[in-house]
Amino acid sequence: MPSYDFICKDCRHYFSDMVSIKEKDEGNVRCPSCGSNNISQVFKSFNFIKRNGSAGSCSGSCSGCSGCSS
Ligand SMILES: [Zn+2]
Repeated sequence: MPSYDFICKDCRHYFSDMVSIKEKDEGNVRCPSCGSNNISQVFKSFNFIKRNGSAGSCSGSCSGCSGCSS
């Protein structure tokens, strides 16, 4: 079962959970801290691209930033 990262919109608790895609799509993931299901998924790869793309020091061959991966 894949592991996803989530952040709770109510208490801002950041956590990882092993859930099925079905559970995730149905909103059955709950915050382990406050029990709220008002959470959003955190995309690691998206954050990685965003971080490298904003550096402004890419030589054009890193294949990791938004400019090179396309
Ligand atoms: Zn919470």
